[in-house]
Amino acid sequence: QNTKLEVKNLQISFSHEGNQVNAVRDVSFSLGQEKLAIVGESGSGKSTVGRSLLKLHPKNATVEAEKLLFGDIDLLKASEKTMRDIRGRRISMIMQDPKYSLNPVMKVGDQIAEAYLAHYKVSKKIAQEKALVMLEKVQIRDPKRVYSLYPHEVSGGMGQRVMIAMMLIPEPEIIIADEPTSALDVSVQRQVLNLLDELINESNIGLIFISHDLDLVRNYCDRVLVMYAGRVVESIKASELENAHHPYTQGLLKAPPRIGDIRHRLPTLERDPSWLYN
Ligand code: ATP
Ligand code: MG
Repeated sequence: QNTKLEVKNLQISFSHEGNQVNAVRDVSFSLGQEKLAIVGESGSGKSTVGRSLLKLHPKNATVEAEKLLFGDIDLLKASEKTMRDIRGRRISMIMQDPKYSLNPVMKVGDQIAEAYLAHYKVSKKIAQEKALVMLEKVQIRDPKRVYSLYPHEVSGGMGQRVMIAMMLIPEPEIIIADEPTSALDVSVQRQVLNLLDELINESNIGLIFISHDLDLVRNYCDRVLVMYAGRVVESIKASELENAHHPYTQGLLKAPPRIGDIRHRLPTLERDPSWLYN
């Protein structure tokens, strides 16, 4: 059995100006070598769950759980030293917008090499060669040229490929992708997701894919957790989503295109735009 994560009755609250906000209540799931989506509207607690797996919660957070296990490591009790070894190397997290995650004054190739050097004792030259191979692996056409570009010189989609290369180079066991494509055009979103899908299928990685777009994840993930107001209201195989029983999940399945999608589709609108308002 290849269970990578076991989460049982996870509760996370924030104290805020004397009040207690219960952001995550009673969340349970496990993750093996599979692709798990966490879907839900803004504020439902998705990112808070993701960050808790790396113990990246802010000071005002209280985290409790019956179980929070990464392999045989109890994350609730893990020291900061243990967490530093896990973060980035064994569990990687990829964020929404590469612009905020990449160092603006460093060549993208060198940033990929650094991600390797941070965890493995090899020479700079070896790390750079590995970074170049990684750029090829994420299907960047001219890796040698792209290696030397700075973040502002790459497009959103290419930036996200660079992020994926950075995330994969230390060979993590789990990847947490928090809305990794929501800043991209719909067509580029699909390309990046297809790539991520391919790379994950060929390795022994568990993926947690956080999104508010059920329609987007249903084709890419094996299982879907639907969160609403901090709780998991549905935990279902992606292939069985049609039979989802919770009204909130049914609502998400029927949801009209989001504002972001509409904006990106506008340039290709040919005729009567009335479909936007139905
Ligand atoms: P989004 O789709 O907008 O990213 P989310 O599902 O990721 O939303 P979270 O960011 O996990 O939602 O937030 C869950 C709840 O916890 C929200 O009510 C949020 O306001 C609250 N929260 C998150 N971080 C903090 C914090 N540092 N202090 C106080 N409250 C917080
Ligand atoms: Mg979030």
